[in-house]
Amino acid sequence: MSFVRKSADLTPIVDTVFAVIAKAKKDAAVNGDAVVNATIGSLYDEDNHLVAYDTVFNHYDAIDHRIKASYAASFTGNPDYRDQVYQWVTYGQKLDLAHTVIATPGGSGAVSIGFTTFLDEGETVILPEIAWGSYALMAHENNLNYITYKNFDGDSFNLESLKECVSTVKAKQDRVVIVLNDPCQNPTGYCLKEQEWKDLVSYLNEASKDCDIILINDIAYIDYSYRSMEEARHYMSYFNDLSDNVMVEICFSCSKTLTSYGLRCGAAIVLAKKKEDVRDAEIIMEKKARATWSNIPNAAMANFVWTVTENRDAFLKEKQKYIDLMRQRSSLFIKEAKDAALDCYPYDEGFFVTLRIPDNAYRNRLHQALMDNHIYTVSVNHGIRIAICSLPLAKLHGLAAKIKDIAEKT
Ligand code: PLP
Repeated sequence: MSFVRKSADLTPIVDTVFAVIAKAKKDAAVNGDAVVNATIGSLYDEDNHLVAYDTVFNHYDAIDHRIKASYAASFTGNPDYRDQVYQWVTYGQKLDLAHTVIATPGGSGAVSIGFTTFLDEGETVILPEIAWGSYALMAHENNLNYITYKNFDGDSFNLESLKECVSTVKAKQDRVVIVLNDPCQNPTGYCLKEQEWKDLVSYLNEASKDCDIILINDIAYIDYSYRSMEEARHYMSYFNDLSDNVMVEICFSCSKTLTSYGLRCGAAIVLAKKKEDVRDAEIIMEKKARATWSNIPNAAMANFVWTVTENRDAFLKEKQKYIDLMRQRSSLFIKEAKDAALDCYPYDEGFFVTLRIPDNAYRNRLHQALMDNHIYTVSVNHGIRIAICSLPLAKLHGLAAKIKDIAEKT
């Protein structure tokens, strides 16, 4: 007998990341600098401090208490926030599509509301095989099934595997929902190349001749691309070629863009050829928002608007310093990994580099062996994730060779 609903799965969340972080902290208390903590998925500076941009938080601190205290203007978010999110997310691209923006609690809210807006309980969502763990949990908690496509064919995007998943799902339901975390994929750091995006769009058009397809494009890390804002968003211009039967939901996160993880602010940007299709999604999302989180912190939205308008140049300048730092960190690790013949998934940009370990049983042994040697990482499906976003250069230096050495003995 239990008080929770009958269909509930009472297995507690196994948060492997937090468990490893706790171990790393305990080890550091004894062994200090000998410990390498490559687990933390937030941006840290070279002195091991969490980065919180001055160009974001100084203004946030000064916001009138009444703005912080008040409800947002609507369940879909404040109009100026919705407008500025659209401008920011599609910067430099001219999209010839109907759109709406729904404010959400972070990118998590945007992905989750997508699942429940587009799919009925019992249906199946298509996820990447190597991915952020929350997608699977969101599917599970919303009574959805999921199947996974292989991320890579060699070092390229595996469109063939995605096609197989679409065919399987299409055989049993009218709507196919695909999650694609790009650019700067978590955990591999891969970005689809221009041609891969073109091929994907033309495949979606082909596949949508006898069903509706929704592409959930999670762009949580887009603002840490090493390319310019326009270049990182250029792939969105291919959305103009999508057929009437394809909808895109872009999931945006202020958590990463503004280093404001705790302010719980993000957005779902819904795009499609037909206005009425976008309106349908908007109606459902507004009701779901009202029925779950109600509305998004007013001051978080106001602060985003101020940061990307009045304070834009100063903010971009401060953010760029850390993008450059991550480029330095990733280049160092990738170069040393190459020198040590340590196999990584193809990394382009983003917060993480992931070691390629197809065998999960061996991955578990190596993960433990690394911890035994004071190196703390995160196990992901078929790999081990190294958080270059939080590891100072000094700690990264020599790390690949050390890992290789431990791997050879494991
Ligand atoms: N998508 C990916 C791939 C992530 O890694 C994260 C956070 O770690 C998110 C979305 C959402 O983060 P938030 O809900 O804080 O915006």
